[in-house]
Amino acid sequence: MRCPYCGEQESRVVDSRGVDDGVRRRRKCLACNMRFTTYERVQPHDIFVIKKDGRREEFKRDKLLSGIRKACEKRPLPTGAIDKFIDDIEADLYRLGKTEVPSSYIGDLVMEGLKKLDHIAYIRFASVYREFADIGALKQEVDSLAARRESTPANQLSLPSSEVANSVVGRRR
Ligand SMILES: [Zn+2]
Repeated sequence: MRCPYCGEQESRVVDSRGVDDGVRRRRKCLACNMRFTTYERVQPHDIFVIKKDGRREEFKRDKLLSGIRKACEKRPLPTGAIDKFIDDIEADLYRLGKTEVPSSYIGDLVMEGLKKLDHIAYIRFASVYREFADIGALKQEVDSLAARRESTPANQLSLPSSEVANSVVGRRR
């Protein structure tokens, strides 16, 4: 680790302490005696998403985030809920310890999570992700959600299914 003041390569570690996701080291340059700090972090391995058509694409948090933001547009979610949601999905993916993950696996994780987070966002995401063939298939999904009304988050009113279907269909026109 090169000294930022004089460029010397050699330094001595004078203090070392663990921080959230790594180690913080206080160093003293052997040439100029200036002190500086370095951080060591574990770099999670890259994950590649295998698309339906077999193409490989590097997993990008931002891409996932923008899709989920779109689904959650104007939904009454607490601040930070979407970021936390993405954090959890990312953590799940890295925990798998695999370098390649099918896009359907990620899609399913998102669907499961959104179902708990917000029903409208779930339906919006599902209508794009599952590419509902027609309004009948969409209505079926909405009805099955309505049947599971007991799992509606406490702070969220459930809407009549026709209203949900209209809001989705309206967006796609
Ligand atoms: Zn130095």
